[in-house]
Amino acid sequence: MPPFLSKNALKASFITVSSNRCGCATVAALLTLKIVMTDAEYMRLALELASQAQAAGEVPVGAVVVKDGEIVGRGFNAPISRHDPSAHAEMMALRDAAQRLGNYRLAGCELFVTIEPCLMCAGAIMHARIARVVFGANDPKTGACGSVLNAFAERRLNHHTEVGGGLLAEECGLMLSNFFAMRRAEQKNV
Ligand SMILES: [Zn+2]
Repeated sequence: MPPFLSKNALKASFITVSSNRCGCATVAALLTLKIVMTDAEYMRLALELASQAQAAGEVPVGAVVVKDGEIVGRGFNAPISRHDPSAHAEMMALRDAAQRLGNYRLAGCELFVTIEPCLMCAGAIMHARIARVVFGANDPKTGACGSVLNAFAERRLNHHTEVGGGLLAEECGLMLSNFFAMRRAEQKNV
């Protein structure tokens, strides 16, 4: 399987074909098609949410939670506007999903986030029992999935989350570096 092809993408559509009594022609071909999104498409939605954060003056990070191919949670970075140090995109998306599903456990869910999760978010991901995390760009300053440390590699913590990084990494990283470059330029002009 290609590394970023979601298992859901393999859920095939199916065709029901029946023949008339002569058996000469197909009478009906019913096509049932489940709309399936790829990992890259989920990440694009996370990028859209990241731009919403940017529009609100926040560091642009976005996240979505997916269950059985369906988006059940959305979030973008909002600690400044919410006066909440825990309002990272991942936390917002986890909260949204937990509310929607009526369960603080998000077993079987996948989280797509534009930047490598920090230690706080890694902890919340484990508590929520997220099955799989896919992130975009590495975060060399606070990344807890391998950049600064790898919380998911700590065997003493009880979790079973699969983690992968580097999906649309360039786009995800550019969004952040452009944001910080813009902010530095604004500060110079003050
Ligand atoms: Zn975080």
